[in-house]
Amino acid sequence: MTKAASAAAKDFAAAGVGGVHLAWADNNGIPRSRIIPVAGLADAAGRGVGATSLFAVFDSHDAITYAHDKLSTPSGDIRLVPVVERLRRLAGQPALAWAPVRQLTRDGEPWPYCQRTVLEAQVAEGARRGLEFRAGYELEFAVAPAGSSDVLAAPGHPGPAYSPHALVPLDGFIGALLHDFAANGLQIGQLHAEYGVAQLELSLAATDPVSAADDQLLARQTIHAAARVHGLAVSFAPLVGLDAAGNGWHLHTSVRRKGRNLLETGKTGQPDGDGAGYLAGLLRDLPALTAITAPSVPSTLRLRPGYFAGAYAFWGVENREAPLRYVPGSALLGEGHANVELKTSDASANPYLALAAVLAAGMAGIEDAPALPEPIGDDPGGWTDRERDVRGVSRLPANPAEQDAALVASPRIAGVLGDDLLGAFRAVRASDAAWAADRTADEIVAAHLWRY
Ligand code: GLU
Ligand code: MG
Repeated sequence: MTKAASAAAKDFAAAGVGGVHLAWADNNGIPRSRIIPVAGLADAAGRGVGATSLFAVFDSHDAITYAHDKLSTPSGDIRLVPVVERLRRLAGQPALAWAPVRQLTRDGEPWPYCQRTVLEAQVAEGARRGLEFRAGYELEFAVAPAGSSDVLAAPGHPGPAYSPHALVPLDGFIGALLHDFAANGLQIGQLHAEYGVAQLELSLAATDPVSAADDQLLARQTIHAAARVHGLAVSFAPLVGLDAAGNGWHLHTSVRRKGRNLLETGKTGQPDGDGAGYLAGLLRDLPALTAITAPSVPSTLRLRPGYFAGAYAFWGVENREAPLRYVPGSALLGEGHANVELKTSDASANPYLALAAVLAAGMAGIEDAPALPEPIGDDPGGWTDRERDVRGVSRLPANPAEQDAALVASPRIAGVLGDDLLGAFRAVRASDAAWAADRTADEIVAAHLWRY
């Protein structure tokens, strides 16, 4: 790897690149990085660069919690080792390149708190079972003039939703996004003015899960840089205002065995066999899963009925209110297209952990084959409590205490993280919850606007 890193460093230097962002995401989904000069790249690829082990216990507000016993002192150091195969020059920041890191111990061993390593382990477990996954994110975000503190007071586009006219004032930014994504090796599926005030959405092409998480981080860096050049700021926060449409980062996955998509549509218009097991596994663990994939206090505020964000635990076929939306294959698209979309997912999730939890829940479903209930075509938010009871539809965790209870109640999801990372993750959530306890919902939303 150091040979490949030396060659990349030489090319970068010749192209005028001065430094490389070594990037990861913490347990709040907040990207963190260290820049090294290109001359240090080969050394970093071999030995890593040092960082405090306390990044595992940073909360959403950059406070460090010492409530997790194994990381309860200021002592301790880890190594950040760039993943050389994923090195990219940043088109929008020409003096810089970018690579995701693995977090290793000082002896070069896997560090139990490394989220990327946790995802790699789930992908490897899938491979042992003959399963191969594909994953892709949709990113919703709000755009505002740079320096504004309130997106709703100063929307970056006037709407209407989905209108080409809404994007005219953002023409330079949109052009830069299309250019920079392609140059950074990221493939956009579609881009549009979304439903919410000042909201945009773009989808990323499906790929293997680890690349999908890497791509999600690189996409954020790319969008922030392009926005800045065009005098804009973007908010990836789950909510930009209490009554506003949320920013969902919907996560699409599918699973294959011997090249066959297990989610392909059976005779009843639903997946059957192992595909039904995968979907039923996600549904069974949805409350615990959501504690990982939409883990912040603003996440819980986003998950309201009527906003296409997923508030109740159920699944549906092409039902946009369903947190698990089955997207069937078709004559036009082929069965390879079939996938399941998780809507209870946002930028405050660590993308590696989110995908690791989804894969684990789905694999456990294939293994155990829990019964898959009938799909629901309506919004259960409009039903009475009794109607929901009859259909077995319950509210997803709506506050940090409910999220924590759901997480520890699922040995499958808690087990994915392992005791150490689970302890750190829970300590961070508790720290966020304590921060939020005496603040209003508006204050909570405002404090997270520019964190991701
Ligand atoms: N903005 C919605 C959310 O909070 C999603 C809308 C859509 O279905 O694209 O997830
Ligand atoms: Mg959308």
